[in-house]
Amino acid sequence: MATTGQGNSRPSKERAQEEPSTEPIPKAVPGESLLALKRRARRINRELGMAYPYAHAELDFSNAFELLVATVLSAQTTDVLINKITPLLFAKYPDARHLADADPADLEEILRPTGFFRAKSRNILALANRLVDEYDGQVPGKLADLVTLPGVGRKTANVVLGNAFGIPGITVDTHFGRLARRFGWTASEDPVRIEAEVGALFEPKDWTMLSHRVVFHGRRVCHSRRPACGACPVANWCPSYGMGETDPVKAAKLLKYELAPGNEALLAQLLAETHRAAEIRMASQKQNR
Ligand code: SF4
Repeated sequence: MATTGQGNSRPSKERAQEEPSTEPIPKAVPGESLLALKRRARRINRELGMAYPYAHAELDFSNAFELLVATVLSAQTTDVLINKITPLLFAKYPDARHLADADPADLEEILRPTGFFRAKSRNILALANRLVDEYDGQVPGKLADLVTLPGVGRKTANVVLGNAFGIPGITVDTHFGRLARRFGWTASEDPVRIEAEVGALFEPKDWTMLSHRVVFHGRRVCHSRRPACGACPVANWCPSYGMGETDPVKAAKLLKYELAPGNEALLAQLLAETHRAAEIRMASQKQNR
């Protein structure tokens, strides 16, 4: 079972109902040495690992091509929505060669629910053509090559490298950037700088899972507008504690997805079967269609 902290064997959901810890909260980090910052950052990563042992890429994919296309499509929309259309998309176009030959009108029809479907259709057609023309229809496994592909920036490239090729990468999306600043890991708004500054705090082998955990935490607890500080498993190590709701009962109501009130069965299943987390999530999303 996941726990919320070392020496604390209670799951985060339970802790959400309790009084906040009386441990001193570091309100600011000025003067924090690099060593202390690294230790605190790694502690947060460990705690997030215990809170979300089932964290994983939230886009469904079965190979590098599918992950690349799904990630490009996920711009300006949700992973949940993309997961709804990719089964049909990849059934019809299972690889770069089939996609490169797609009729643009057919493709637009499939992508219509994702918004900006004409631009996205053009993008992934161009992407598939480049893969066929220059990489024999395969997805390249190097950052320098990936970022030259249409619609592919560092974020997408790192998602693909980390999750399809097992090459460590930090994925700086809106959640990751916001939380990295709240954690005091960086002050920057620039994704490339955030990636470099956060990367320097961790071992490269930890980068990919760190990215999943931080994004999971951003989507479920540390929301952009109303972070649920009173139900947060890393509150003790977060200098931004108090910027959101600190009352544990009110904060618990702000939690989302499997942590949301009423979703205890889903959370229990994810904790019990972390190795099947992606399948469980897909099944729960299908039920909610
Ligand atoms: S929810 Fe609050 S305590 Fe937790 S990481 Fe976000 S700002 Fe920090």
